[in-house]
Amino acid sequence: MTDIRRIPHFIQGREQAAEDGRWGEVFDPASGRVAGRVALASADEVSAAVAAAEAAFPAWAETTPLSRARVLFRFKELLERHADEIAAAITAEHGKVLADARGELTRGIEVVEFACGAPHLLKGEHSMNVGREVDSWTEYAPLGVVAGITPFNFPCMVPMWMFPVALACGNTFVLKPSERDPGPTLILARLLKEAGLPDGVFNVVHGDKVAVDALLDDPRVRAVSFVGSTPIAEYIYARGSANGKRVQALGGAKNHMVILPDADLDQAAGALLGAGYGSAGERCMAISVAVCVGDKLADAMVARLKPMVEGLRIGPGCQGDPDMGPLVTAAHRDKVRAYVDSGVAEGARLVVDGRGLKVPGAPDGFFLGGCLFDHVQPHMRIYREEIFGPVLCVLRVPDFETALKLVNEHEYGNGAAVFTRDGDAARQFAHRVQAGMVGINVPIPVPMAFHSFGGWKRSLFGPLHMHGPDGVRFYTRLKTITARWPTGLRDPEFVMPTMK
Ligand code: NAD
Repeated sequence: MTDIRRIPHFIQGREQAAEDGRWGEVFDPASGRVAGRVALASADEVSAAVAAAEAAFPAWAETTPLSRARVLFRFKELLERHADEIAAAITAEHGKVLADARGELTRGIEVVEFACGAPHLLKGEHSMNVGREVDSWTEYAPLGVVAGITPFNFPCMVPMWMFPVALACGNTFVLKPSERDPGPTLILARLLKEAGLPDGVFNVVHGDKVAVDALLDDPRVRAVSFVGSTPIAEYIYARGSANGKRVQALGGAKNHMVILPDADLDQAAGALLGAGYGSAGERCMAISVAVCVGDKLADAMVARLKPMVEGLRIGPGCQGDPDMGPLVTAAHRDKVRAYVDSGVAEGARLVVDGRGLKVPGAPDGFFLGGCLFDHVQPHMRIYREEIFGPVLCVLRVPDFETALKLVNEHEYGNGAAVFTRDGDAARQFAHRVQAGMVGINVPIPVPMAFHSFGGWKRSLFGPLHMHGPDGVRFYTRLKTITARWPTGLRDPEFVMPTMK
């Protein structure tokens, strides 16, 4: 235990080890070895982090938006300077390939760039003469202490969907990252401090359900942003809302890509490969279902995909240039493998079986080869449930309407894509599909930082999406001021003023 790295909390500008000695194991997924032990916070430790954030709030809220933005500008520069270190930290605990880890960081930096526009983003509206000699304007006030609870699959980007916007708006923040790959968030905390963020404005508490429940029940926490699986998102939304908090809780996904017979097959096959197997399928916007319209198209698509999936280069994310790395833990790898077993048992055709993959030099890594199913039926578990691994399911439908109905009847509605050359069909799809993010010949339609990210149906609980304009709305309260100066003062009024 002594020579294994310990991952502490970050409270009031300092690293702080666990008080009550609860620790969780963090693995190097490529070797299968324990790479570190993460402190698992008690309710008291969470309370200390919230207290630090609450104490820091008044001064940070009064700091001008321009000064807050300048801290974020310096933070962005530091992130770029330390990009290699951060990407290596992501790969070491998550397992994704280094180039993908760099990509994740870049998408996070884009949110920082968006948040650097704080003075503009926080401008209110003004109306002169809403009544005779009466003016009215709006202001956006910060909420106070807000919390973020994040999943394992983007240990940097998902926290960065949240805290740059929250801080820019004048809130203070407590982050509870995934306990499976918590290390990178400590680098972010250190760099925020180096950028000039006052102590206590940004805090990290590691932990599990104990820490999450403490945040949900603490009346000083005004709002909770969550990203993770749907059952936990629903729980967070229910408990946080019942406690009077503002909550946005993003959940799981089963993203469909509909391929129409007129699509460019090579383009669609390439898109499916990258979107299905990139990051070993551990992306909430991964394509896990390919809906082929017509048997002829499906046969051609499966024939193209088979050698591509068999040819995926799989290995440790920090060595060479593999297409994908291992899964995050042995338990998750086993869960994904069990889904593949269930697909076979339920009668789907396993065209490529990645279950027997051996990676030379990494016998104990949590690897699983790419798997491809054809003739998947809507009642099967591999279709209904989120697998979150390198498993692509091909479904065959006779026409466009059946494809659209299939997508719309699924419980999740995060992303959906259509591949076609037919503008009419694409327009119909975009307009009628029940999903929050839609791609037209774009397999992973992740909105840029200055738009907002979020799904529909059971992929999101709460009204507001993350970052972009919704992010600013989520982290602020609106105040509307109506003013009249002495020259406009009139006699007392006893009836409803109608502002003539
Ligand atoms: P998860 O739900 O297991 O964990 C997410 C967070 O919740 C973690 O911080 C974890 O510590 C905490 N948590 C777990 N169990 C809890 C419990 N019983 N009570 C309270 N807190 C609990 O998710 P994960 O496995 O880390 O991440 C993968 C999931 O996240 C997938 O379902 C994926 O689709 C989803 N995800 C969604 C989006 C999106 O934008 N919709 C983005 C990324 C990931």
